[in-house]
Amino acid sequence: MIQLSQRIQRIKPSPSSMAGQRARELRAQGRDIVSLTAGEPDFDTPAFIQEAATRAMAEGRTRYTDVGGMAELKAAIVQKFQRENQLAYTDKEIVVCNGAKQVIFNALLSTVNAGDEVIIPAPYWVSYPDITMLAGGVPVFVNCPSSEGFKLQPEDLERAITGKTRWLMLNSPNNPSGATYSALELRALADVLVRHPHVWVMTDDIYEHLIYDGRAFATMAQVAPELKERTLTVNGVSKAYAMTGWRIGYGAAPTPLINAMVKLQSQSTSNASSVSQAAAMAALNGPQDFIGASRKTFQQRRDVVVQAINAIDGLQCHAPEGAFYAFISCSGLFGLRTREGHSIESSDDWVMHLLNSQNLAVLQGSAYGVPTHFRISFAADTPHLLEACRRLAQGRADLA
Ligand code: PLP
Repeated sequence: MIQLSQRIQRIKPSPSSMAGQRARELRAQGRDIVSLTAGEPDFDTPAFIQEAATRAMAEGRTRYTDVGGMAELKAAIVQKFQRENQLAYTDKEIVVCNGAKQVIFNALLSTVNAGDEVIIPAPYWVSYPDITMLAGGVPVFVNCPSSEGFKLQPEDLERAITGKTRWLMLNSPNNPSGATYSALELRALADVLVRHPHVWVMTDDIYEHLIYDGRAFATMAQVAPELKERTLTVNGVSKAYAMTGWRIGYGAAPTPLINAMVKLQSQSTSNASSVSQAAAMAALNGPQDFIGASRKTFQQRRDVVVQAINAIDGLQCHAPEGAFYAFISCSGLFGLRTREGHSIESSDDWVMHLLNSQNLAVLQGSAYGVPTHFRISFAADTPHLLEACRRLAQGRADLA
């Protein structure tokens, strides 16, 4: 028997990746599964980006690049930060990784010692706690209830900070809740952080462009320039340009942190794919109309889904301000029973009931630190979404 390390035993597989895999397996067994577990746009990568990749291959750009990314891509990222976020970075403050996930991984592994604390507002993206634990750190969860719009409140942040706090993880728009912090809300959190100079901020801005109802996007380093020296701004092309499979994310931070992250990457994956880097460069430098079009589509789908869900007795959700997920309360169903006599006591039970009785795959809120809720993705076409809502309603009707 292979002896596994304590490090690997501390963590669990990503629930969202596993749910997608499970849905594919059940489909392969012939079951008519509708899956709303996807954390990715259902569109193809725009043609001009694909063409840039084909061109890069034809031109022989198929070799190792600098570990932290090609100079031309870093230049495109510097320009992106200036153009879209009014943030001035140099290329020495930029790193390109295999997805935003590796940016976060590299940063936590490079900075967290055993017993260091990482503040994670809940609901949170599934990978933050496990990457923290892999690094030997301790996740400190701060509950952000739906009554506060799932947003971290300054007084709760103040209470969570100790001498051991290394990072605050901020994710706006948020996966799974869609909560999107305004500049004013970020400023109120910054006012707390200013008083605690040992705490760094990681802002995961991967859903920056998926933001609805005309809201303006804001990020911490822009709102609080005095914190820029201890902020890692994380972003990438996955969600904005429908490029999840290309695996390109990037981070911007003070050079000593970037250098540590590059050192770690030099001993693990080396550079992100050279062809994908060329494609990401085209995405950032090229026409941006794809973003506006996909935002419009997602907002229409959001409205369809939220209305249908709120019409189901016992389910409740706010219209998410950003990202492409609805985070739905199912606590109104707790205590009801399935036809087989199983009692629904948690969102895990409800999610299992939906899969078993309706062939509908969604994600339990416990994966995101909120066991009263479940998550659906509306990155699916409208007929699929309507069918999923029909199955949700039927799943509810089957309870008594
Ligand atoms: N951060 C959040 C909040 C996410 O939801 C995801 C993907 O689901 C990522 C980061 C990872 O993005 P990437 O595909 O660039 O690694």
